[in-house]
Amino acid sequence: MENRLLQDYLQDYFPGIEIYGQERIFGGDINMAASLKTNSGQVFIKWNDNSRFLGMFEAEFKGLTLLKSHSPTIRIPKPLHVGKINGISFLLMEFINDGQGKSNFWKNFAEGLSSLHKNRQENFGLDHNNYIGSLPQSNTMHKKFEDFFISERLEPQVKLAYDRYLVGSAEKNEISQIYRRYAVDVPRETASLIHGDLWSGNYMADNQGNACIFDPAVYYGHRESDLAMTKLFGSFSPEFYTYYHEFYPLEKGWENRADLFNLYPLLVHLNLFGKSYLSSVMRTVKKYL
Ligand code: ADP
Repeated sequence: MENRLLQDYLQDYFPGIEIYGQERIFGGDINMAASLKTNSGQVFIKWNDNSRFLGMFEAEFKGLTLLKSHSPTIRIPKPLHVGKINGISFLLMEFINDGQGKSNFWKNFAEGLSSLHKNRQENFGLDHNNYIGSLPQSNTMHKKFEDFFISERLEPQVKLAYDRYLVGSAEKNEISQIYRRYAVDVPRETASLIHGDLWSGNYMADNQGNACIFDPAVYYGHRESDLAMTKLFGSFSPEFYTYYHEFYPLEKGWENRADLFNLYPLLVHLNLFGKSYLSSVMRTVKKYL
């Protein structure tokens, strides 16, 4: 992203802004990212030139805004602007300086996440669609968790995997046989506001040592989805789960249900990164058949 072009464009929104330089940041899955040095401090920018990801940054802007207004105790970067210059879409947000987690980092994180989850509504879904990674995520509302999860989460990913020849008819059938388990195994709760993509790459400790979560795929869902996702690739510290349970008790056996929730991100990985994820998908399916 060219500094001069960006600086000129931004005058209408941040009059007098000057951009002195930028430093690339690596680690994201989809977009390019950098720290912008400006006359009012550092700003985080991510961008892409892919017209397939229509509305991706608008949705992220809305998601961050929603999370920020509903979670007073966990740090969320403040979104600043979504724009487009010469076919390149970008999102600006508050820059988070990273640091070392302080001694009560996990307690603080668990408290923050549980307070986010205490924002409840009757229906599962959201008033707008968004993305999970670079794949569209439909948030059409449903009264029952299992209807939402099957229709808006699992089925679209299975269909995509089938259309892309990543699963065959037999596997597609086998996957659909565990759908009935969601109504039976998952505790009934009203929907919680959740981050939606809480793997270990989407949190950091800020320079005060507090947890900060970013890059969300927000919706009102089952809060066990967020907890399950923290266990998908490795796991958070055991302290985190102990504290979360103290702040907002979970129904017994949630650890055994985690893979049931993680079928969704595994299918997403299958569609994004290919067949190497198929064995994990089928292992999960066999576990609950
Ligand atoms: P992508 O959309 O490509 O997955 P991310 O949102 O994960 O990109 O951001 C890429 C990297 O940039 C992250 O791994 C993180 O280290 C860093 N990052 C994300 N948001 C911020 C922020 N607000 N301030 C500073 N660094 C950030």
